[in-house]
Amino acid sequence: MVAAAPFLTPAAQMAELARAMGQCRRCATLARGRTQVVAGAGTLPARVAFVGIAPGRLGGDRTGIPFLGDRSGDLLREMIEQGGLGEVFITNLVRCSPRDRKGRNRDPRPREIARCRGYLRAELALASPPIVACLGALAWRHLAGPGAPFDPASPAPRERHGWRCYPMYHPGYVIRGAYPRARYREDFLRLRRLLDQL
Ligand code: URA
Repeated sequence: MVAAAPFLTPAAQMAELARAMGQCRRCATLARGRTQVVAGAGTLPARVAFVGIAPGRLGGDRTGIPFLGDRSGDLLREMIEQGGLGEVFITNLVRCSPRDRKGRNRDPRPREIARCRGYLRAELALASPPIVACLGALAWRHLAGPGAPFDPASPAPRERHGWRCYPMYHPGYVIRGAYPRARYREDFLRLRRLLDQL
């Protein structure tokens, strides 16, 4: 559980939270392998929060900011801009970059995601977005619940734990060529229309 300090402004609370996360050693393997702890970043409050998987080796782990510095980050930020989505908050299921034995990015393990969950919850409480856009099936499963079908092409928001979860493909999936860029752009425009209705 991450304690809130309601007498501070949201920005000061976020800074305090980031400081606490910076000391985290709950996952020994992640703490050993990370360059730095990567806290969520963006506007408080936010119109939408994007939740990815984990800081990338060439992205957040290097720059200290989620989805900044790698190709996934470039694509996500381009889509956010083209979709006219200002006031966003961007974070991940976990705050440290998980690596395999060869030093490549790997998915975080369920127990790593569970240990980081309190930080995510605290970030989302401060960002208080009406929509939590889950980037990829892994983020969706962990936020919307295991039974919720992941279908970003016909997105159906799902309420869980006070979050309105919204499925979207992970930018890495688009970069791999598994989903067309033009359709990804349309998905962001559809998200924008939904936000405009709220
Ligand atoms: N960078 C992030 O911050 N998260 C991802 O899921 C991928 C790249």
